[in-house]
Amino acid sequence: NLSERLQGIFSGLRGKGRLTEDDINQAMREIRMALLEADVNFKVVKTFIANTKERCLDAEVLESLTPAQNVIKIVLDELTELLGRTDSKLVLGSRIPNVIMLVGLQGSGKTTAAAKLAYRLLQENHQPLLVACDVYRPAAADQLETLGDEIGVRVYRGEGKDPVKIATEGIQDAIDSLRDVVIIDTAGRLHVDEEMMAEAENIKRAVKPDQILMVVDAMTGQDVVNVAAAFAERVDFDGVIMSKMDGDARGGGALSIKQVTGKPIKFISSGEKPDSLEEFHPDRMAKRILGMGDVVSLIESAAKIEAEEMEAEAAERMMRAQLNLNDFLDMNKQIRKMGGVSKLVAALPGGDKAMSQGQVDESALDRMEVIIHSMTLQEREKPDLLNGSRRARIAAGAGVQVSDVNQVIKKFNETKKMMKQFMPADDGRGRKGKKG
Ligand code: GDP
Ligand code: MG
Repeated sequence: NLSERLQGIFSGLRGKGRLTEDDINQAMREIRMALLEADVNFKVVKTFIANTKERCLDAEVLESLTPAQNVIKIVLDELTELLGRTDSKLVLGSRIPNVIMLVGLQGSGKTTAAAKLAYRLLQENHQPLLVACDVYRPAAADQLETLGDEIGVRVYRGEGKDPVKIATEGIQDAIDSLRDVVIIDTAGRLHVDEEMMAEAENIKRAVKPDQILMVVDAMTGQDVVNVAAAFAERVDFDGVIMSKMDGDARGGGALSIKQVTGKPIKFISSGEKPDSLEEFHPDRMAKRILGMGDVVSLIESAAKIEAEEMEAEAAERMMRAQLNLNDFLDMNKQIRKMGGVSKLVAALPGGDKAMSQGQVDESALDRMEVIIHSMTLQEREKPDLLNGSRRARIAAGAGVQVSDVNQVIKKFNETKKMMKQFMPADDGRGRKGKKG
């Protein structure tokens, strides 16, 4: 996959020490191939490589003490740029009820996303109403109603075959039933066609949505971009919900959409459960793609589940890359608590690989915990103290091999190093052209 490919390219660069122009050109060719194979739109790839290459060929980069690291940082930065740079949160306007309309092809995940959005709004103390405007398939309104029942959200389904009428009535229903946000689920078609576009336009004209979100299926690859471009031209929309990110999509759609349509991804959906809708953060996604793990999301999920247990202090130390083994132990506890261990372990560096091989086991977490518990408090706070004899003592205490202890320390050091490299995120951000 893309992550593995890029990591391979980077470790090649790291192995080199000094980098020449040829090395950069070679790496850029490889990155270009990797992106194309991941189904990233070729025009997007072209611009990406051009920008990245220009920055990497800067004398300041090539002659620095750590050229490979600088190259990786530049790639990370350009990837973040590609994905949209800034977080684009769901912002509700002041109009009540606020109206969100969903558009997209049939099967893209609109109805599912409508329910997930409603669920999210519910968590944020809103009173959403779902409106079923897919009048073509009788099962469509049933599906929305079932989902609404599951999460305890009212669904307006109306009668007849006129989606514009149902949408308008839905808004009145929201007013009557004191809902503050209306989510309009519309009908898609298997392909972009005139009827679908006209219908979406008509609903839009009638209800004047505060925002229109387009739902795209991440698994569609290249085609995502064409569909989104067609919608952008006809109906226009404000942002994208990328669904089915849990599938084995190659990532091309997510990487292309912002550049091609100018519309940011706002949410990613990765599952069928109502709570599997995440806000999209370009920087985190870029790190995830580069295999740097998504520690911030990990910390956030941990914090969400048991806010008070995740000490603010520990989180801050992590950010500042002054992580110690106690924090590491804390992270482990959080991972365990979340039940869905595999999902979160996948967010850790190297986690994806372990997962695809089905190797995520809790016993590894157990072992890590026992080992850290066998250390003195001082050792946990200053892992540098852990010399050979201390490691042997810890192994004996924990009833494991010294190599197991080494493994924990190695994993810890990797995490720490990764954070040190990438947490101070403002390095080289603004593209100010060549310096000096
Ligand atoms: P619509 O035709 O655009 O309304 O699409 P639906 O919401 O009905 O979704 C089509 C199918 O995709 C359904 O079987 C959903 O359960 C499934 N689906 C939607 N979103 C996701 C997702 O994020 N992950 C996975 N795995 N399946 C999804
Ligand atoms: Mg639907």
